[in-house]
Amino acid sequence: MDCIFCQIVASKIPSEIVYQDDEVIAFRDINPQAPIHLLIIPKRHIPSLTHLTEEDLPLMGRMVNIANRLARREGIAEAGYRLVINCGEQGGQLVPHLHMHLIGGRRLADELG
Ligand code: AMP
Repeated sequence: MDCIFCQIVASKIPSEIVYQDDEVIAFRDINPQAPIHLLIIPKRHIPSLTHLTEEDLPLMGRMVNIANRLARREGIAEAGYRLVINCGEQGGQLVPHLHMHLIGGRRLADELG
């Protein structure tokens, strides 16, 4: 198990977990790009968006719903925020375990990446 996010799921390395259920875990990014920067990931190892199957669609809906709830809980829902999934090398994905970035708490730049 050399995936860093799988190690977070297994509590092998520490993280500041803000939410978890049987399928999903969310924790604070170690290198936050804004006052609020959370990562929402499936507990199961899915390498990237490219690897999703039809069966994973309810899981993705669940992750978006969790992001929505966490944005409210973190107090950024009203002001607005960004939900980002980087995919693959040119998409800027560094950790090969599917994750959503929930970023907010400041005005974000207009560019996408
Ligand atoms: P990405 O470039 O989309 O793959 O984003 C990976 C994110 O994971 C980056 O924002 C990193 O700061 C974050 N990250 C890497 N290792 C950890 C860790 N151990 N705990 C929390 N966040 C991490």
